[in-house]
Amino acid sequence: TEAALRQAQKMEAVGQLTGGIAHDFNNLLTGVIGSLDLIQRRIAAGRAGEVERFVSAAITSANRAAALTHRLLAFSRRQPLDPKPVNANRLVASMEDLLRRTIGENIELEIVTAGGLWQTLCDPHQLESALLNLSINARDAMPGGGKLTIETCNAHLDSAYAARARDVRPGQYVCICVSDTGTGMTREVMERAFEPFFTTKPIGQGTGLGLSMIYGFTRQSDGHAKLYSEPGRGTTVKLYLPRYYGEGAEPEDMQPTREEPQP
Ligand code: ADP
Repeated sequence: TEAALRQAQKMEAVGQLTGGIAHDFNNLLTGVIGSLDLIQRRIAAGRAGEVERFVSAAITSANRAAALTHRLLAFSRRQPLDPKPVNANRLVASMEDLLRRTIGENIELEIVTAGGLWQTLCDPHQLESALLNLSINARDAMPGGGKLTIETCNAHLDSAYAARARDVRPGQYVCICVSDTGTGMTREVMERAFEPFFTTKPIGQGTGLGLSMIYGFTRQSDGHAKLYSEPGRGTTVKLYLPRYYGEGAEPEDMQPTREEPQP
């Protein structure tokens, strides 16, 4: 019946939300636990002087976890998420240490930030979790090491692009492109990768929620997420977030845009 269907849809939405929060919370806790473990080991080795860095890393992760629970509270009160003008270059730079620790030492991290990058309008905490999730996926795809590249640019999605990709408005976007040199995905995996709960990882390691949350976040932000992948070569995820035009837009907002290739 219709009521049962509605109830089932509601339960699915709740499951998706709580699973998503648990997933992000777990990622952040991994950062706290990792830093505390390093602190403990340095103290045991009589190198207490080095712990300051790890303490500040633990505080950063704990603050992100707190922000996540605030978001959950906001959601349960049905408040809209909190979009703000965001400087993606600064946001990516602020995550550099966290990302390095997340991917480990045998994966190289390169961050390429475009000069004159526009500001974008989105929820910065959601963008942070998206980038953390993408980096964890990249790490999992490169067990033997490799390279993770995060690149920002101004991008123009024209009407031909919008016509081919579903649900995209033509216009100006800030693009954040995350690429790895990992295993890549088969066609079948690529087609399902954005589905909630779709995972190829062993039980306990994957929730299948990372990419579906990223998809939801870009849609909610009036943006767009696009996946490129080739088995054996690697994967690229491009997040397009709308350009911010409003008050306080930074004066560097006068730069030329890059035309994006057809999807
Ligand atoms: P999870 O990482 O928990 O499995 P995701 O929604 O983030 O959930 O990803 C879904 C699936 O997409 C993964 O299980 C994996 O098969 C594939 N995938 C995601 N990112 C990558 C990547 N960077 N390289 C290869 N495969 C990936």
